[in-house]
Amino acid sequence: MKYKLYYDGKWCDPISNNWLEVFDPSNGESVGMVPNGDDLDMKEIIKSAKSGFDIWKNTNTYERSDKLEQLYDLVLEHKEVLAEVLTKENGKPYSESLGEIQYGANYIKWYSEEAKRIYGQLIPSSSDDKRLMVKRQGIGVAYGITPWNFPFAMLARKIAPALAAGCSFIIKPASETPITAVKFFELIHQVGFPKGVVNLIIGDPKPITQVAMDSNDVRKITFTGSTEVGKLLMAQAAQTVKNISLELGGHAPLIIFEDADIEKAVMGTLASKFRNCGQVCIATNRVLIHHSIKDQYLKRLVEVVSQMKIGNGFDKEVSLGPIIHEKGFDKIVDHINDAQDKGAILKFGGKRLKTTSEVYFIEPTILDQVTTDMKIWSDETFGPVIPVLTFDTNEEAIRLANDTPYGLAAYYFTESISRSILIAEALDYGIIGLNTGSPSSAQAPFGGFKESGIGREGGQNGIEEYLETKYICTGL
Ligand code: NAP
Repeated sequence: MKYKLYYDGKWCDPISNNWLEVFDPSNGESVGMVPNGDDLDMKEIIKSAKSGFDIWKNTNTYERSDKLEQLYDLVLEHKEVLAEVLTKENGKPYSESLGEIQYGANYIKWYSEEAKRIYGQLIPSSSDDKRLMVKRQGIGVAYGITPWNFPFAMLARKIAPALAAGCSFIIKPASETPITAVKFFELIHQVGFPKGVVNLIIGDPKPITQVAMDSNDVRKITFTGSTEVGKLLMAQAAQTVKNISLELGGHAPLIIFEDADIEKAVMGTLASKFRNCGQVCIATNRVLIHHSIKDQYLKRLVEVVSQMKIGNGFDKEVSLGPIIHEKGFDKIVDHINDAQDKGAILKFGGKRLKTTSEVYFIEPTILDQVTTDMKIWSDETFGPVIPVLTFDTNEEAIRLANDTPYGLAAYYFTESISRSILIAEALDYGIIGLNTGSPSSAQAPFGGFKESGIGREGGQNGIEEYLETKYICTGL
């Protein structure tokens, strides 16, 4: 099957007629061919998005809201089709894919409502002969780049607030998982947005992004991916002073205090660690546990982790799919080896199940006696590995938790009210899970401190990223 690009309200072949093959990471089989678009396509797509913006910014906000509502209904109606292709190209268990479609759809629903609440201001003036008004309006053409780990949700959570704000949108999904985006665009096409409002480019990210960066018509860059690429984009965006939002890497600590409910902490560890086989930006990357309860926690953790089945995401028993590619797999193995070389004790797993040269599975892994000189302490592992360290005092736990250039998500477990408040205040993170391993939701801001990014997606904050502020002073 050959899929196409989408712009000017229609499906288009790549101008240079280059194509890419997409593979199922569970078995190495082909999922389909997609365009390997380049700068020539992107130039046409920007023209399309520019004319789309001119229409969409003047479209009544209630009409914009209705279109998003229709899109939400269509996504739910087709959630099985979307989830199936998502599992094929990403490998995550089918039940997780269904959960991701619902999660992404929630953003579409939420922003269909928020579109109606883009309020301005009337400001009392110090001059009797002037009236001061503030109006909010869509920032312009927005260009989004998304990663492979949440091929649907990352798109939905950018496109929905952008369209609600009155921006037109160009999305470039990851090359490993572009077909979920194509399927989503089939639904976007059915809704019938005006031509050019929503556009899809697939292909080589560098030349495509360079065209966007050089264009004065593109006013917004929104990126989800690695901190390394985020930094490059930030520098590029400076040339034409574009507004930029970055959702980057993380290195989440999960702290378990001596008064925690151990069962809750174990379940929270699983929820925050093993979705998408640990290939999640807010995945726990370090467990910090009070020394007095470590043995009890580890015993229960090993018990539940040893029940997890690894394999193809369409097998109903499977809770851990493959690692997306060799580079990711090698990094995980390197983190496990490095930790063991430096004295960490393997409590469970660690076995690499390298079935063929193109397919990479790895056992869920628990490492005890991890120390701060190990790679796993400072690098994002992006795999199903739980490194465990102990602490004695609250102060030590906070110091260890904040000892990273990242600041995306942090989790902690305690039954004490005053400790719960003090720890939340002390953690340098944008997302805090207190007694839960799954804090993310469409109504709430998602994003990081420090090198984990700039800006927020979700909730009221999410739409702000796509709005400009216009101040109008009227002399009487
Ligand atoms: P990545 O290498 O940065 O790729 C992400 C996207 O950027 C892909 O679409 C990729 O395109 C594109 N890209 C790569 N190089 C580029 C360049 N020079 N210019 C423009 N675009 C470029 O990240 P990844 O390894 O796929 O994704 C995992 C990372 O994303 C992790 O660090 C994770 O923590 C982070 N992440 C963060 C969040 C969050 O909300 N904070 C959510 C999910 C993931 P191609 O695929 O075509 O190469």
